[in-house]
Amino acid sequence: MAEFPFEISPMFEGERVRKEGMFVELGGPKSLGLELVRAADMDAIEDDKVTIIGPDLKDMEEGKTYPWAMIFNIGGELVEQDLESVVERRVHDFINYCQGIMHLNQRYDVWMRVSKDTAAKMDSFEPFGKAVMMLFKTELPFIEKMQVTFYTEKAEVEKQLETAKEIFKARDLRTKDLHDEDVDVFYGCTLCQSFAPTNVCVVSPDRVSLCGAINWFDGRAAAKVDPEGPQFEIAKGDLLDASTGEYSGINVVAKKLSSNDIQKIKLHSFFDCPHTSCGCFEVVGFYIPEVEGIGWVNREYQGMAPNGIGFSTMAGQTGGGKQIVGFLGIGVNYFYSPKFIQADGGWDRVVWLPSMLKEKIAETIPADLIDKIPTEKEATDIQSLKAFLEEKKHPVVARWAAAEEEEEEEEEEEEEEEVATAAAPMMMPAAGYQMPSMASMPMMPMMSAGKAGGIKITFKKAKISIERMVISEKKE
Ligand code: SF4
Repeated sequence: MAEFPFEISPMFEGERVRKEGMFVELGGPKSLGLELVRAADMDAIEDDKVTIIGPDLKDMEEGKTYPWAMIFNIGGELVEQDLESVVERRVHDFINYCQGIMHLNQRYDVWMRVSKDTAAKMDSFEPFGKAVMMLFKTELPFIEKMQVTFYTEKAEVEKQLETAKEIFKARDLRTKDLHDEDVDVFYGCTLCQSFAPTNVCVVSPDRVSLCGAINWFDGRAAAKVDPEGPQFEIAKGDLLDASTGEYSGINVVAKKLSSNDIQKIKLHSFFDCPHTSCGCFEVVGFYIPEVEGIGWVNREYQGMAPNGIGFSTMAGQTGGGKQIVGFLGIGVNYFYSPKFIQADGGWDRVVWLPSMLKEKIAETIPADLIDKIPTEKEATDIQSLKAFLEEKKHPVVARWAAAEEEEEEEEEEEEEEEVATAAAPMMMPAAGYQMPSMASMPMMPMMSAGKAGGIKITFKKAKISIERMVISEKKE
């Protein structure tokens, strides 16, 4: 293996470069960050070449943030355009294998930091570029030739970003006319199991991956070129429920890959057995019970959602490869799916979006809803959210009346039960009857006579599971 000025190992994957230890920051929320992989003719690639356009590492000032773009060109007999996204998704892994270099996110959200220690060992990005390409060619042998260009000048990065966004859009559009029912197989990906062991990513024509980087075509290309790799075929099996997108084949894989932790995954459901969320999702959905609706917040949004929580806190709650009811991680392109959370009302259930996200996906929001979905400009808390939805007659408002009616009915039923309990003759044990001890009694819910004293606890629409309950006698 060639000599590099820093160590390279998967053990550096989880390493964080904190602000205090950082030499420079590249891209991220304060600047522009891009990564793109393009398939090219073998003749057009100068193998192992690193080109730097703009200030190199030695020209950068400590503690500063710089715009950043990385454009990799790959070539090989088996390399085809469909593989670009899959190769691009590995940029994250391989950069994080480099000691003292941190990489977060993907596509046009890239955020990197170079530590002071690593910057002290090299004055150029060249060895870093060569190290990443060495890893690519070792781990993905179908890449025969590779070159990279790093851009650190704002105008150049902006130019690359503009072109890249068109490429990403074209990639995402490829699945537009293909749907879940048109194919026999879906694709799975286990890349994120390294940090979210029970995560089971299922990519179908109507559901792009959570990271947004892999669609059905990408999964197919990856599984074909590297059958033993992290992307693989999932036989659909039987369609168990068309509305939620439940397939027997997905359930089999979910159980197997999560070591039985996940029993079912319903592709287009928000509440019941939703898709697992690893941590690199582009957007997180969150249920807002006060309005019976679902808000969505994207990774780039720095503010608070109307529930008073920001993206990173919600992401922390959602991620880890679990099914967290009330939260769901998705890729931005899932908003374009005709089956977008269709089991739970689809777009009619969307009650809040940050303005930057709303603008980005405006073309896919149904025309009759676009003005009814508020952003941080119109709704900053639950009160203003509720008022806006009511004023605009958002379809979710109809659910409030239905929910209120249901609540009233339940209350009436409870009152009737209380009256019946109060009116029922008290059954007194016959003389000599021995009351069974508490420990031998079957567990029954405790009913109080309401206003007669004690406490009354009412659970509505609640699911409570108790693994073990111990009742012991209080010793005086
Ligand atoms: S989010 Fe899913 S598709 Fe994307 S890298 Fe992780 S496991 Fe793979």
